[in-house]
Amino acid sequence: RRAELRRLIDQPTYSRDGHRVELAANIGSVEDLQKVLENGAEGVGLFRTEFLYMGRNTLPSEEEQFRVYKHVLERMNDKPVVIRTLDIGGDKELPYMKLPSESNPFLGLRAVRLCLSQPELFRTQLRALLRASVFGQLKIMFPMIAVVEELREAKRLLEEEKAKLAGEQIAVSDRIEIGIMIEVPAAALAADELAKEADFFSIGTNDLIQYTMAADRMNENVSYLYQPCHPSILRLVRMVIQAAEREGRWVGMCGEMAGDETAIPLLLGLGLHEFSMSAGSILPARALIQRLSRREWIDFADQALSLGSHQRIREFVQQKTGSEE
Ligand code: PEP
Ligand code: MG
Repeated sequence: RRAELRRLIDQPTYSRDGHRVELAANIGSVEDLQKVLENGAEGVGLFRTEFLYMGRNTLPSEEEQFRVYKHVLERMNDKPVVIRTLDIGGDKELPYMKLPSESNPFLGLRAVRLCLSQPELFRTQLRALLRASVFGQLKIMFPMIAVVEELREAKRLLEEEKAKLAGEQIAVSDRIEIGIMIEVPAAALAADELAKEADFFSIGTNDLIQYTMAADRMNENVSYLYQPCHPSILRLVRMVIQAAEREGRWVGMCGEMAGDETAIPLLLGLGLHEFSMSAGSILPARALIQRLSRREWIDFADQALSLGSHQRIREFVQQKTGSEE
């Protein structure tokens, strides 16, 4: 079976009936790249840059960040690389940054909210990204967008930094896509509005499930509510993909659900374009998708979404694919 999977390393990902999707990898550091390349990823779908800021005593400088982003883009050899701007707050803290103490950090000053409240911190990262952009196919992604004004403000700061770099004769790529994570239910529900102003979406199901179910993703007492195939989650995913399609945007997914073998057939049917997962899941996912008919799964996904529960939907998928958990 290993040898069989290895044969898929350099192949693009097609369903049995010739529908193309992209399988990308999630990374947290430069050290993860070796596995990404060994497992035949078609790109990086999520680079969690907060790890550059963690486990140290000071903020990383623009130069230091620039070198890391450049290195990742070069190693990926012009394959798409989605770099997510700082997603700190919630459960991830920076000891050297004095943040207000909050009684509900996951509902507080997190991710893009924090970056917009500390524009100098954000601008440093944006400049590093813009400077690195000429070394590959960079896509910049903002986390935790809830309302369109946040996206506009983030883009405004990015444009300002771009203009400053132009004034300093520093080259910036003219093909950078700007996208957002869809991980707040409000963003999923208003995805049609966001799709007018973002080049792409990536659905962050770890947080989307947490916020939709009102169940802390770290709390084992409520872990039974982590239900990626619950109708509420699948309906949100369908809504996001349909909204994006109407504006001609592509949609990826970078939460754990993207690598879940029971969810993958449904996501293929719903029209997800890019699946981003841990490197080790890529080849098994590619083998699975090759066995699936996209045409069939458009109908099956439709049928599945009319079933009432997570349990029944998972059983339905397993029966159709002939697999068992
Ligand atoms: C997510 O929320 O699904 C996600 C991919 O981001 P993180 O797990 O880093 O919050
Ligand atoms: Mg998240």
